[in-house]
Amino acid sequence: MRAICLLAIVLSVSLAQTRSLTDAEVERIHRSMLLIDTHNDITSRTVDGYDIGKNKNDGHTNIAALKEGGVGAQFFAVYVAPGYVKGNRSAHRALEMIDTVRHGIIERYPNDFAFAATAADIERIHKQGKIAALMGIEGGHAIEDNLGLLRDYFDLGIRYMTLTHTNTNGWADSSGDVNKPEVEHHNGLTPFGKQVIHEMNRLGMMIDISHVADKTFWDALAESRAPIIASHSSCRALCNVPRNMTDEMIAALAKKGGVIQINFNCGFLSEKSAAAAKAVQESTLPGAAGEDATIAEYKKKVPPATLEDVVAHIDHAVKVGGIDAVGIGSDFDGVFCTPRGLEDVSKFPNLTRALLEKGYSEENIRKIYGGNILRVMRAVEAEAKREAAN
Ligand SMILES: [Zn+2]
Repeated sequence: MRAICLLAIVLSVSLAQTRSLTDAEVERIHRSMLLIDTHNDITSRTVDGYDIGKNKNDGHTNIAALKEGGVGAQFFAVYVAPGYVKGNRSAHRALEMIDTVRHGIIERYPNDFAFAATAADIERIHKQGKIAALMGIEGGHAIEDNLGLLRDYFDLGIRYMTLTHTNTNGWADSSGDVNKPEVEHHNGLTPFGKQVIHEMNRLGMMIDISHVADKTFWDALAESRAPIIASHSSCRALCNVPRNMTDEMIAALAKKGGVIQINFNCGFLSEKSAAAAKAVQESTLPGAAGEDATIAEYKKKVPPATLEDVVAHIDHAVKVGGIDAVGIGSDFDGVFCTPRGLEDVSKFPNLTRALLEKGYSEENIRKIYGGNILRVMRAVEAEAKREAAN
């Protein structure tokens, strides 16, 4: 009898949920959101001529899929691979990557995208029914240890910079090589690295700590006079990899008004995926030569994470940092494996349904999807204004 009662309760609860969430309802709520994704790497393909307007199903991102997914604003990664450090080609690459966003995406499809550099731009462009296109540099070596280049990048529209990629540069340690004894490390940020942080504050460029070593995170947080972000990182408590943030880091970031934008890479969401991905990486050739083989091996050997894993990471970050400290930084087209249920940019409505089913209110999802990062952008813009006035 007791079991039957329990069953009845469970059934009525789940029925209540399914009844209250028709597809039309999820769609209505999803379309009412301003969804801002802070990291997408389709630029590494458009720079080689890939047409984002051609609706092929060979990647995670194209215009039709962005519209289907209800993406309101997209930060495109101006990714400078570590290999460009050799021969000082990083600035050249950064300029090529900026060109592919401004010319290869925005100018090519003016009815679909509009260039944005501020929080107000994003809101205005969203009201016009277009996708706001923004840029963040991935890899601080792009400035070639020169504050002048940092200022040039700001003038060209860069609104965040990920302090490192997987490589330690001349002024900041990376999580990607912090345990490699052959790499010269700095114990976080050098004095010049701290100047970079201050110059970013002065310009109004967001400081992004995804990819950095833990000590670099703590140094950047202490130095910055504005909130900082993790543009595409997840939670180490749920998936223990160096690319993810510890609870202590999430709490400290939140306390200073920052946001962690949850990454959808299988290997950052699920430890099972992470272990399999590590084995594949170690068994295939690094770099472009081995890339096709790596992707093939990934498809065979890495079990995908799931939509539920993404929700778990969002929920964990909210519990640790609060509802104002969490957002979305998918890393679509920058990773070989995406979660079941969130395979590409068109699938964002599935996340809305899952968050609603988890009990998140529309108001709270609105914060996660865009409200929080807009608040950080405004705080960063205000700090720049304050410094200009002094
Ligand atoms: Zn990255």
